[in-house]
Amino acid sequence: MSDAAIGLIGLGTMGAMLALNIAEKGFPIAVWNRTTAVTRQFAAGAGDLAARITPTESLEALVAAITPPRAIILMVPAGPAVDEQIAALRPLLGPDDMIIDAGNANFHDTNRRAADAAAAGVPFLGIGVSGGEEGARHGPSIMGGGPIAAWDRVAPILTAIAAKHEGEACATWMGEAGAGHFVKAVHNGIEYADMQMIAEIYGVMRDGMGMDAAAIGEVFRGWNAGVLKSYLIEISAAVSVATDPVTGSPMLDVILDRAGQKGTGSWTVIEAQHLGAAIPAIEAAVMARNLSARLEERLAGEAVFGAAPRALPGSLSLDVLEQALIAGKILCYAQGFALISAASASFGWALPLPAIARVWREGCIIRSAMLDDMANALTDAPDRNLMLAPFFAEKLASAQTGLRDTVAECARAGLPVPALASGLAWFDMMRTGRSTANMIQAQRDFFGAHGFERVDGGAGKHGPWGAHG
Ligand code: NDP
Repeated sequence: MSDAAIGLIGLGTMGAMLALNIAEKGFPIAVWNRTTAVTRQFAAGAGDLAARITPTESLEALVAAITPPRAIILMVPAGPAVDEQIAALRPLLGPDDMIIDAGNANFHDTNRRAADAAAAGVPFLGIGVSGGEEGARHGPSIMGGGPIAAWDRVAPILTAIAAKHEGEACATWMGEAGAGHFVKAVHNGIEYADMQMIAEIYGVMRDGMGMDAAAIGEVFRGWNAGVLKSYLIEISAAVSVATDPVTGSPMLDVILDRAGQKGTGSWTVIEAQHLGAAIPAIEAAVMARNLSARLEERLAGEAVFGAAPRALPGSLSLDVLEQALIAGKILCYAQGFALISAASASFGWALPLPAIARVWREGCIIRSAMLDDMANALTDAPDRNLMLAPFFAEKLASAQTGLRDTVAECARAGLPVPALASGLAWFDMMRTGRSTANMIQAQRDFFGAHGFERVDGGAGKHGPWGAHG
């Protein structure tokens, strides 16, 4: 039998759900998993969709089950597992057969694999998939990278399984080679910052205002009916009101404050550094996750310095916090899009910024009501920083006071809000025509004769430092 339209390797959390989604949309699919028991269990649990699923127990059987020219999705952990699977599969495939890495690969790895595939004359795609388990099952957001002809071949399946926003599929080709995985990494960077800012505001309500988890959940629920409407605010409300079945305490109160990460946030930050792009809110979010893991050091710090006073003045109302979050969210997305713009220019990708905003409107973790307005603003002027678009400039003009008050009062109370504070610092730098880098240039020239430009354009590229320089 070789009637499957597509194959999939890796029936873990994401792969299993993607396979069911593909089958549900009417495409026969052949699947294989390293551990055969998982394949059998998956097939046994596929219900009505089992008729469109061919479980296989060897790579040879998987390949034989797919109609040529084949397309096979890899949904395995990023890194060596992907290279191992490509190496095992390639000898079994024909020159028109395509491998699609749908995991969270580092885009540099995807560039390398794309170059290898191009040299061998075989099609290869790297696609970023967002939306977690639920998104994979019912409609993820998909960011494709690789040869456009390869994308076009599988686009009917990928658009069918993708989330839809007002009928438009959230699946788009971003560009050559690692472009899709790069955009997915920045998506995750924005996700880190958005989550961190929400966590910071949660901390303000918990530690600065003495609110319990259920009350905080109600606040998030209310905000989700307004400008902040988004998946992350929605789930923040849900996790806040949940109760631990073991102790009966609020679930949040029994969860250890040590956050995990798989690397995409730090990849985004590293790439921003290479590109000279400024994404401090995302950097702060990655830093906060790193510090969260250093629980013993934090406890030692608290033992020496004591916990901060933390109580906030009554003037910091919930409305002010909502404004802070609105401003913070705009700023972290603006930083993410600025990074995409810098990468696009540097890597010669022509990344479609408005289409990226559109592809994130549904299915992915950072989906939010604001993305519609971001798509419009980027359509009007793709190269303009988002914070300068009239719609967002107006929003920032009114919400920045809330952000400023929140950051200032939290600094006084010793409540850490690193992503909000970094977002604000970026905003203030971005609105400062005359910065303080003239002092940096003078220092550099003093100790290293690095030279500087003059504001009047005149000659004299070094200062009169004399023997002190
Ligand atoms: P899981 O850990 O749930 O599943 C991993 C799968 O890969 C299993 O089927 C496992 O098989 C297989 N596998 C592991 N190592 C190898 C190997 N060396 N060779 C062959 N197969 C291997 O992972 P997820 O489904 O969560 O993630 C898969 C990919 O999707 C990752 O790149 C992840 O970053 C990405 N992703 C995950 C999201 C999520 O929310 N979970 C969201 C978006 C992307 P076995 O049963 O034999 O162990």
